[in-house]
Amino acid sequence: MIHFKQVSKLFAGKAVVRDLTLEMAQGEFTVLIGTSGSGKSTTLKMINRLVEHDQGEITFAGEPIEKFRVQDLRRRMGYAIQSIGLFPHWTVEENIATVPQLLKWPKAKIRDRVTELMALLHLDPAQFRQRYPHQLSGGQQQRVGVARALASDPEVLLMDEPFGALDPVTRGTLQQEVARIHQLTNRTIVLVTHDIDEALSLADRIVLLNDGQVIQHGTPLEMLTKPVTPFVRDFFGRSD
Ligand code: ATP
Ligand code: MG
Repeated sequence: MIHFKQVSKLFAGKAVVRDLTLEMAQGEFTVLIGTSGSGKSTTLKMINRLVEHDQGEITFAGEPIEKFRVQDLRRRMGYAIQSIGLFPHWTVEENIATVPQLLKWPKAKIRDRVTELMALLHLDPAQFRQRYPHQLSGGQQQRVGVARALASDPEVLLMDEPFGALDPVTRGTLQQEVARIHQLTNRTIVLVTHDIDEALSLADRIVLLNDGQVIQHGTPLEMLTKPVTPFVRDFFGRSD
């Protein structure tokens, strides 16, 4: 589905992602993990061209990503991120409907889709549809963010620390909801986190980055039981 071939990204002459080769298969839940500054967000943003790569090739559905118009690529990939807030002067419904409205879906179809997504993310439509973001808790806002990313039924869901800064209980609930969405829809999901437990519980495949390079990738079990270096062992060892 998404294929990185020897991809590098330089900022001010310094490679922050180096020679990255990686495949994210259709329907697979990939978690990118690593310490702060390891290149996780940059890697994620190269997929929907929020950041342009400098070397190598990234393909989506078999085509180099440059072949797609940027807006087409982004419509096929929902993007949820902790720090991109909701539009403050728009209701929950309007926020979730952002992309369907751009795509000029009929009003009734948009309304049905919003209702469906709110139910999927356990936001009671009767209670929340007309509220504004400031009338929601942090966890509810993040649910709206995930619903917005899913609205146009994108083939890929990209998420950058979508549950950061939440209490452990709310975080756990949202993790379960994303796991359920993955099971229900078999969407290709790429999620960035530095939370080891989150990675272990959600991922089909974990990619551990350090200093812009893949140190190891594998199933959660492989990462735990067959670390290729002491760095990997110590990294996952911290969750014991
Ligand atoms: P965190 O866990 O803190 O979010 P990260 O793994 O997501 O970290 P990135 O945001 O991908 O890390 O950044 C990787 C490196 O690239 C960092 O050293 C960062 O300072 C640098 N970097 C990121 N964006 C830019 C930019 N626009 N200009 C210059 N340097 C950048
Ligand atoms: Mg980041």
